[in-house]
Amino acid sequence: MKTISLGKMAQVMDGTLIQANPAKLVQSVNFGNPKSLKPHQVYFFSRKVNWEKKQLPAIQRIKPIAVVLPPYVSSHALPKEVGLIRTRDAFAAFWKIAKWNWEQCKPLRVIGITGSAGKSTTTEMVASILKNHGPMVKTKDNLNTFVFLPSYLTRLNPNTKLLLLEMGMKSLNNIIRQCKIVKPEIGVITNVGEAHAGALGGIDLVVKAKQEMVDGVRPGGVLFLNADNARSRKLNLSRFKGTVYTFGIENPADIRGSNIHYTRTGMNFVASIGNESFPVWIPTFGTHNVYNALAAIGVAWAYGASKSEIQKGLATFQAPKMRLQFIRGRYGRILINDAWNANPTAMKAGLEVLKNVGGTRPKIAVLGNMLELGKYTRAAHELVGRYAATMELDQLITVGKYGRFIAKAAVESGMNKNKVFNFTKSSQLLRHLARSPKNAIIYFKASRNLHLEKIVKRLK
Ligand code: ATP
Repeated sequence: MKTISLGKMAQVMDGTLIQANPAKLVQSVNFGNPKSLKPHQVYFFSRKVNWEKKQLPAIQRIKPIAVVLPPYVSSHALPKEVGLIRTRDAFAAFWKIAKWNWEQCKPLRVIGITGSAGKSTTTEMVASILKNHGPMVKTKDNLNTFVFLPSYLTRLNPNTKLLLLEMGMKSLNNIIRQCKIVKPEIGVITNVGEAHAGALGGIDLVVKAKQEMVDGVRPGGVLFLNADNARSRKLNLSRFKGTVYTFGIENPADIRGSNIHYTRTGMNFVASIGNESFPVWIPTFGTHNVYNALAAIGVAWAYGASKSEIQKGLATFQAPKMRLQFIRGRYGRILINDAWNANPTAMKAGLEVLKNVGGTRPKIAVLGNMLELGKYTRAAHELVGRYAATMELDQLITVGKYGRFIAKAAVESGMNKNKVFNFTKSSQLLRHLARSPKNAIIYFKASRNLHLEKIVKRLK
C-alpha cells in the first residue's frame, strides 16, 4: 500500500510539522486531555485561533478532535511520537488534505442519497446489500452535511471501492457543494417533504434544495426518484444528462413494490424491476420503509448487485437507532421509540405502523412538537391531529407547546375527547403513562429537542 510521509502531509496542508513526545506536546500547546493523543496519529492546529475550537464545532464532534490520518500514512514515521501540523487555518487545512486524499483514491464509485425523510435508513439498506462488494466508506450516524465531507474523504484509501454518502442539508447549496466534489454516479431523492421548510423559508425552497441532487449527479449517471411523491414531480429534469428511474407503490414505476404485508417481525412485499419480480422481507415496519427498501433495491441493482444479495442484504439490515425501535417496557408494555426526529410525513408513517402492529393491545401514541416548519407549524400539527383521529387509538397524548394543536384537531375531527390528553411537563406524562394498561403498546415521536427517548428510558 502507498504511504505518505508526515512531511508531505504538512506540505499538502500548507503547514509546519512538529514532531514530539505526546506529553511534551500537551504541555507546549495545551492540547487538552493527554490521553486523547495517540502515537502514529497526526493532529493539526492553527496559529490564528488556538485549536480553532470556536471555528470547528462540527469537526469537534468527530472524535478525536481534528485528527487527519489518511489510512495509508506511514505508521513507521513516528514510533513514539505524535505529529502535529501547525497551519494558518485549520479548516482550510483539513479540506486540503481531504481533497488531496480524494485525488489519490480515485477512481471509486460514489452513491449520494438525499431526501426529506428516509436518508439514513436507505443508506443503511444499501450498505447492507453492498457489504460484500469491497471496502466502503459511508456516512456515520447523522453527520451528513457539507461540513462533514472532509472527514469521509480522509478515511478513503486506495482500496476503497465505494463512497456511500447520505447528503443532508440545513440550507441551500449544501448538497450541490458536496456533489461538486464527489460527483455521485448514482443519486437518490427518497422524497420531498416538509422537513426543514421553516429553516429554508418555504416548501418551494425544499424542492430547490433537492434539485441540487438532480444537478449534482455526474453526466451519464443514474437518478432514482419517488413516483408517488407529488413534490418530487416538481423537480426539473430537463438539464439532467443521465438516466432517471422511479420507485413506487401506487403509480407506475421502474422499481415497484406490491403485495405489501405486515408480518410479526417486519414487512413482506414483492419487488419488481422490469419483467423480474421477487419476494423481499425487511426487519422493520411501515410502508415508508418499503419505499426506502425500493430505493435501496434500485441503487443496488444499478450498482450491479444480484437478486439474492438484495434479498439477503435487506433481510439482515439493521435500522439506525431510534427509528421504530421496539423495546420491552415494564409490566409487559411495548414501547416504540421513533423519537429520532419528526415531521408530518414521518409522524403519519409512524401512526400507520402503530395501527398495524401489536394485535389487540391498547394503542397509545405520544406525539410532540415538530420543529423547523416555520409558517407551516400550526397547519402541520393540525394535519397530524386529523390523521391521528382516524387511527383507532386508545389514547392520543400530546406534549410540547405545539402538541395541543394536534390534540385539538384530533378532537375536532371526531376523536373522543376522553381519549385525548395534553401535557406540558414530563413528570405529568410519566405519571400518566405509569397508569396506562399493562399490555399497552406505546409509540413515541417528536422532534429531537423534546428528548422523548428519556421518557422511554424511564418506562423500561
Ligand atoms: P435524519 O436526517 O434526521 O436522520 P433521515 O432523512 O435520514 O432523517 P431516517 O433517519 O431514515 O431519515 O428516518 C427518520 C424518520 O423519518 C423515521 O423515524 C421515520 O419516522 C421517518 N421516515 C423514514 N423514512 C421515511 C419515508 N420514506 N417516508 C416518510 N417518513 C420516513
